[in-house]
Amino acid sequence: MTNTEPVEAGTSSVIGVDVGGSKILARVVDPATGAARGRVKKNTPTDGPGAVVDAIVDSVRALDGWADASAIGVGVPGPVTPDGTAGPCPNIVGWDEPVQVATELAERFGKPVVVSNDVNCGAVAEHRIGSGRGHADMLAIFVGTGVGGGLILDNELIVGQRGMVGEIGHLTVDPGGRPCGCGGFGHLETYAGRAGIDNEMRRRTDANRHLLSQVGDSQLKSRHIAAGLEAGDELSAQLIEEAAHALALVIGNAATLLDLPLVVLGGGIVDRLGEPFLEQIRTSDDFGGVGVDFTELVLARRLDDAGAVGAAFLVADPI
Ligand SMILES: [Zn+2]
Repeated sequence: MTNTEPVEAGTSSVIGVDVGGSKILARVVDPATGAARGRVKKNTPTDGPGAVVDAIVDSVRALDGWADASAIGVGVPGPVTPDGTAGPCPNIVGWDEPVQVATELAERFGKPVVVSNDVNCGAVAEHRIGSGRGHADMLAIFVGTGVGGGLILDNELIVGQRGMVGEIGHLTVDPGGRPCGCGGFGHLETYAGRAGIDNEMRRRTDANRHLLSQVGDSQLKSRHIAAGLEAGDELSAQLIEEAAHALALVIGNAATLLDLPLVVLGGGIVDRLGEPFLEQIRTSDDFGGVGVDFTELVLARRLDDAGAVGAAFLVADPI
C-alpha cells in the first residue's frame, strides 16, 4: 500500500508509529527482523486530526535516530484508503472526517510515509513475525472492545478501495439482532466484542446477578468473564458460548469464501480465554461454510508494540 513514493529496498531503519485513542507510540524498527528500539509515548490530542498529526510529528522527532530512518509507517484506528487518507476515527475525539494524513506527514518529514489501519498493522506484524509467519494466506482477528480483522492473501495485505477489507466485526451473524455501535443490528462484534458482551450482560442481569456483582459499575473486563467461567457462572458461560457461535459462523464463512488455511485470533478476550475458547469455536455446530477441517485456528503471539512494528513493516515493504 504505497501512500506516497516507494521506499528503496535496503537495510536502514524505519519508524513505526501507533496512534491509539489515548496514546501515540513511536519506535525505531529494523524492518528485517521487527526488532524495535527507542520509545516515545505521548497523549493523543482530542482537538481534531490537525493536532494529532502535529503530535505524530513531535513523537517521531523526539526519537533518537529518527533522521537516519528511511521512511515512516503510521497506524491509525480508522479506515485508511490506499492513498493514505485516514478517518473518521471514532476512538479519537474530534477526528470526524477523512484527512490526507500520508501526504501531509510526507511533506513535513521529507520522507516517504505509509498510513494504515491499526488492526491491519497488527495483522501484518502477526504475519511477518508472529503466528502467521510462513503462511501466504491468513486472516487475523482481534477480539477486544470491538472486533477487527486484517486479511493477507499471497503475502499481501488486502485493503480495498475504502480501506474496509477486514472489517469483520460488522458482518451480520443474526439479522435484526443486538444493536451495533455502527447503527446496524446483529453484527459479530455485538456478540464477541467486550462492549457488546457488557451490554448484553447488563440486559440479562435480572436473571443472573453473579457476573454483574463482580463487575459493578465499571466496564466488564476479560478477566471478569474468565473468573465467571471458572466459578461456573451460567450467564458468563452463555455469553461466551454466543461469542464462540458468532465467531464460528463468520470465520467459517470467511474461510470458505477466501479458501483460508489459517486464522490467527488475538485481542483481550481471546488472550484471556486462550485455547479452550478456540476449541469452542472450532467445534461449534454453527461453524460457517465448509472450511472446518481445512482452516487452522491459532492464537496470536501477542507481540510487543505490534501496531508500531506492523506499520514499520508496511512502509519498509510497501504493497
Ligand atoms: Zn456494526
